[in-house]
Amino acid sequence: MSGLYLHIPFCHSKCAYCDFFSTPNRTRVEEYVDALEKEFHARKGELNGPVTTVYLGGGTPSALPLNLLERILEFIPLENAREITMEVNPEDVTDDLASWIAASEINRVSMGIQSLIDSELKIIGRRHSARDAMDAFARLRHAGIENISVDLIFGLPGQTHASWLHSLDSVLEMKPDHLSAYSLMLEPGTRLWAMRQAGKFRETDEAEVENMYRSLCDKAAGAGMEHYEISNFAMPGKQSLHNSSYWNLTPYLGLGTGAHSFDGSTRRFNPPDIKSYIATGGLITETDSETVTEKINDYIMIRLRTSAGLSTAAFRELFGHEATESLMANASRQLAGGLLKQTAAGVLYIPERHFLVSDTVISDLML
Ligand code: SF4
Repeated sequence: MSGLYLHIPFCHSKCAYCDFFSTPNRTRVEEYVDALEKEFHARKGELNGPVTTVYLGGGTPSALPLNLLERILEFIPLENAREITMEVNPEDVTDDLASWIAASEINRVSMGIQSLIDSELKIIGRRHSARDAMDAFARLRHAGIENISVDLIFGLPGQTHASWLHSLDSVLEMKPDHLSAYSLMLEPGTRLWAMRQAGKFRETDEAEVENMYRSLCDKAAGAGMEHYEISNFAMPGKQSLHNSSYWNLTPYLGLGTGAHSFDGSTRRFNPPDIKSYIATGGLITETDSETVTEKINDYIMIRLRTSAGLSTAAFRELFGHEATESLMANASRQLAGGLLKQTAAGVLYIPERHFLVSDTVISDLML
């Protein structure tokens, strides 16, 4: 069982908050897909069993022409894939693209909406309007796509609680199968970071961000969604299999610039450099030198971000008795304070109402 991730680092333009590896220069898309194919053939031996989930992420995969998307689907093994996701941006979702996706093996679409208020979209540099996003969603549904996830951001410049509720309610009315909602992170090097430094907007204060998150949890629950990870909500049976496999330490192979891979014990990554990637035919993979303690801490972090939590039995099996003793010693303060709970079966979890302070809880547990 293995996941396959393909990174498409091209976008139409750079959003003001974005620090993902992506470029608006699309002159080398064809050569890039050639390199992806070469990398796949060179590294397919690293796959740990049949490919069960595929994720075309970016960047903006929908910025690629259809013939290149078709080529990608031809060289990757899809016969055992239960979930094949493609990220799209609303401005790319034409009738042609929606019909092409519906007729292809892709069975899940993830669309970045971020907000349904035009002034908020403008300040963060999105190229689509609220109307475009709603139309794109309707087009995907009309084409027959049954599994659609949407992304939203809260804590945006100029956003109020009322405008957040408008975006949230409007998105939930569209009845997505899955919702990912993140609080805005201002990252150095982005346009929004520079705008904040120049005093061009006031950051949303922490208490307001907390209120927005609480509304998100309440409204998503009201819409029948399960809150299965800090930032992820799904209708029953619609949890993202691909993302869940990251949280379950299922091995995955990541192709393309900036992509990460995990074979069950070692993590590898491809440096974010399109020119070298194309020049080497995708062979610029480097190995992460992760220590055992870093692996343990990664595991603690990803498991405690999920509502399923961290099974101490599974932890003991993976990392041994001594590490489990240290984990439980570190957990005692948060267990006593109630921010962390433990089930009778020994599963540690953070209750939903404390998800927002999960960073503090998790850092206390780290070895
Ligand atoms: S479309 Fe996505 S990856 Fe591209 S610049 Fe915007 S946020 Fe970044």
